[in-house]
Amino acid sequence: MPAKNEVKVYGNYIGGSWVEPSGGWVEGRDPATGELVSRTAKSTAEDLQHAIDAARTTFDSGDWSSKRPSDRAKTLREMTDRLREGTESLSVLLTLETGKPLADSRGELLNAANVLEYYASAARHIVGRVPRYSGTDISLVVHEPVGVCALVVPWNSPISLLSWKLGPALAAGCTVVIKPAGYTSGITMEFVKLLGKVEGIPPGVINAVAGPGDSVGSELVRSPKVDKVSFTGSTETGRKIMEMASSNLKKVNLECGGKSADIIFDDANMDAAIQSAVWSIFRSAGQSCNAGSRLLVQDTIYDSFMASFRSVASAIRIGNGLDPKTEMGPVISESQLKRVMGFIQAGEDDGARLTLGGKRLLEGDFAKGFFVQPTVFEGVERDMRIFQEEIFGPVLCVLPFTDEDEAIRIANDTKFGLAGDVWSRSLARIMKVSQGIRTGTLWVNRHLNPGPEVPFGGYKQSGLGRETGMDGLMEFLQTKHISLQLTDSFDRVRR
Ligand code: NAD
Repeated sequence: MPAKNEVKVYGNYIGGSWVEPSGGWVEGRDPATGELVSRTAKSTAEDLQHAIDAARTTFDSGDWSSKRPSDRAKTLREMTDRLREGTESLSVLLTLETGKPLADSRGELLNAANVLEYYASAARHIVGRVPRYSGTDISLVVHEPVGVCALVVPWNSPISLLSWKLGPALAAGCTVVIKPAGYTSGITMEFVKLLGKVEGIPPGVINAVAGPGDSVGSELVRSPKVDKVSFTGSTETGRKIMEMASSNLKKVNLECGGKSADIIFDDANMDAAIQSAVWSIFRSAGQSCNAGSRLLVQDTIYDSFMASFRSVASAIRIGNGLDPKTEMGPVISESQLKRVMGFIQAGEDDGARLTLGGKRLLEGDFAKGFFVQPTVFEGVERDMRIFQEEIFGPVLCVLPFTDEDEAIRIANDTKFGLAGDVWSRSLARIMKVSQGIRTGTLWVNRHLNPGPEVPFGGYKQSGLGRETGMDGLMEFLQTKHISLQLTDSFDRVRR
């Protein structure tokens, strides 16, 4: 196993300097062992105010927002290089804070580097239009940075999800205040430290303040000096953010929860569909917004498919993420463990059939961490809590269906609309289901296809707006119309 990092202490990053918080410190612990990993800031409203002021002053100065796009692109490219160089050491800390397997941590950091690289190019492709060009009457439509942006991030993929916000914000010319999730404040600050070393980025462009969501997070979202909130987290918090942001009609971007359906037709490539279905729910111990947490299997293949599914899922190697053999780590915290076990109990109480797992692991070293077995419920009814609510743990609900119409009906029977998978060899089936499901992303004969070029976001209560791709960049820009009348007097002044 790779060497663990020593326990590190991170203050807040404000106006280009590291500053001690005025509210004390919070301990970050490894969810696999309970060992101390880092100490991060328990910030106060006063700390936060300094960060907002730094971001506001720098934005208003134009030192970043008025830079040439090629200069902003250069800075983003240098950030990409730093992150690629730092991947190995950062991946250990990411695993220590989240519990995810080291290979997944490396993948996440490389994904973030890829996103920053994409936005380095995108910075040079912010183009306006001239929709009216008639004699002396000319209209310019241009895009300008939104301003000071609050970037509020969850713990499950803290660096890649931050890069989805930071990349377009910086490309657009905005300044930011980052509010990391408590469990992953250490890795976020280490990432910010790395970016802060890049030359050409004025102090106050990137600020990061750690602290509780319901105090520091909500103060940030309410602040009249903040122009936009880009939030990723639960639908419940997203709803509160929308209300708080109304104070000064901030622009709001919400990436929230999911309960995605993975639909398997009887003509699918079975081996690929089984592997994909298993990992779409159990990767990251089910703590992915786009997890395929509802598996819909056509009734004609249900028994054989589920027998193979259970056999693959029961062989998943659970353990400490630093062990290269580990395929699934613990859930993030004791409170998440209680939440997941509460849902498992609710599934049993409501009469669903537990056909795999269902227990916390407590033998040997497992007892020190928050490990839950891959868990499968069959015989699920659509009004059960385990079918309707986002569990965010390694718990799967399985239902049979007869045809395309029923699959679409079941898939859409949720308040969420983030993602989904369809497995079939029939183009007609694929198109019917793709068009029928109300979701922001649909993967066909695959699960996940990471890449910064395409937009990601939710229908229904899975969110508002889009991240990544050029759609993600537009969220950090506003549109201005400049209407020109080229008069005689204009000509005289010019002469
Ligand atoms: P969360 O909503 O509890 O917290 C997210 C962030 O918001 C954290 O930084 C938290 O400190 C902050 N926060 C909490 N209360 C706040 C408040 N009142 N005001 C301002 N900020 C506040 O979510 P979580 O438990 O960290 O993350 C898991 C959730 O994130 C899941 O629901 C998951 O589906 C969702 N998620 C969505 C996506 C997506 O792209 N749609 C991606 C990853 C995770």
